[in-house]
Amino acid sequence: MSKKKTTMTSAFGAPVGNDLNSMTAGPRGPVLMQDMHLFEKLVHFERERIPERVVHAKGAGAYGYFEVTADVTQYSKAKFLSEVGKKTDVFARFSTVGGEKGSADAARDPRGFAVKFYTEDGNYDMVGNNTPVFFIRDPLKFPDFIHTQKRNPATNCKDADMFWDFLSLTPESIHQVTILFSDRGTPATYRHMNGYSSHTYKWYNEKGEYVWVQYHFKTDQGIKNLTGPEADAMCSKDPDHATRDLYEAIERGEYPSWTLEMQILTPEQAKDFKWDIFDITKVWPHSEVPSITVGKMVLNRNPVNYFAEVEQAAFCPSMLVPGIAASPDKMLQARLFSYRDTHIHRLGPNYHLIPVNQSQNAPVRNYQRDGAMRVDDGGGSGPNYWPNSFEGPDPNADANEPHFMLDGEAGRFEFSFPNDDFVQAGDLFSKVMTDQDRANLVSNIVGHLGNAQKRIQRRQCAIFYKAHPDYGTAVAKGLGLDVADIEKLAAMTQEERVEATKA
Ligand code: NDP
Repeated sequence: MSKKKTTMTSAFGAPVGNDLNSMTAGPRGPVLMQDMHLFEKLVHFERERIPERVVHAKGAGAYGYFEVTADVTQYSKAKFLSEVGKKTDVFARFSTVGGEKGSADAARDPRGFAVKFYTEDGNYDMVGNNTPVFFIRDPLKFPDFIHTQKRNPATNCKDADMFWDFLSLTPESIHQVTILFSDRGTPATYRHMNGYSSHTYKWYNEKGEYVWVQYHFKTDQGIKNLTGPEADAMCSKDPDHATRDLYEAIERGEYPSWTLEMQILTPEQAKDFKWDIFDITKVWPHSEVPSITVGKMVLNRNPVNYFAEVEQAAFCPSMLVPGIAASPDKMLQARLFSYRDTHIHRLGPNYHLIPVNQSQNAPVRNYQRDGAMRVDDGGGSGPNYWPNSFEGPDPNADANEPHFMLDGEAGRFEFSFPNDDFVQAGDLFSKVMTDQDRANLVSNIVGHLGNAQKRIQRRQCAIFYKAHPDYGTAVAKGLGLDVADIEKLAAMTQEERVEATKA
């Protein structure tokens, strides 16, 4: 902080003479209406808060760069990927999901992992999580799902019945539930976790050829997690531990980095692929789709002001640049719309003018005008319509995504891809996790699910059993449930199971 003394002023620059004593009629008051300094100070204070994000409210962020380390021009014409060694400025924000802005960083929750690339073709946002999958695959379920992770409408407390009732009625959640209740659900810090796009995206090259891709930002610090008891202790010891860790590591010059690996499928490979590549509850197994290393992200600069640069940072998966496009993933399609909608609600229609959100390396030229808090010249005296014959900017067809085929009967379809929602969760449990991982997973689940009603415990246990009999058995035993009953429930259809466990 600068030591140089300066004069305090009002919001409009007038010098302030006294900031300790309100103007009063006599030394014992009352306060005079004409104390405009007092009123300015109070009315601004009363408006300090902006709407909290409904999800991802608690977060931390930092600036840095992304460097390309492999030639991927055969896959994408994105300019920031155009040559090995090319560096692009980034701003990254990490967050928990369900907790409020003052909640603890160590809570069991997925972590948001969002990166804004300030490219010369405009800003590109990769808005992912620290998990490669998600709980649901249809956006119509999203508000309901989030309600169950938040507070009971009557008690205003977290509620294990709501939480597990919804999940046990939504069996496709089992894969993400298994990751969430493993120790990866409580990363040691934001530096020690991976980031995944989770969704499939499209990359296309100069020739208009496309591939389907998934992003994996692998932490160079190594994966480090807290066990359940360590996370519980951290919540009370330092609720801001991950926010503090990121800031202090960067201040020390220990710049965290992530290696970007991509999984890539050609349209031909995708056609016969065993899994629905647009189903966000599934991964692409590495044995079938090995990843290639593409670049590195390094974070090396802290924000100067948290509110200005982190609280107001606005990411949106529809912020795409030529060379990168959306996929038909239904969850992604809804996010393309709803993130921008959220930012307009929280920050206003001109949120793109807030410095952290501004395009840094590409000029902004269009015919959008006015609105609340338009704080630049608003397009000046240039034309505010197109087409025009006054030298206003024109669209450039090179920026268009190549045409692609769509067909099909419109309607509301149940998920019908012939695969199994339990196999990948079962593989994670039985083939990837160590004995210790499994023991921690079961103990984390028992500690949480044990607070729900017995009938909900039974329904959810049957889903664990369907993922892997050892998994369901271990949780059932931990909860003191009858394993034979769980096995019977697991053999039923979901409809029968719901009927057998109704209130
Ligand atoms: P692999 O053995 O090739 O990959 C296993 C992956 O699991 C690695 O990426 C590893 O990440 C990650 N992993 C290790 N321990 C855990 C854990 N406790 N919780 C969550 N992830 C963990 O197998 P497959 O690709 O065939 O995938 C098998 C299962 O692994 C999947 O069903 C999925 O649950 C999980 N997984 C798969 C990923 C993928 O994209 N294929 C990505 C992440 C998880 P790391 O290298 O960082 O240790």
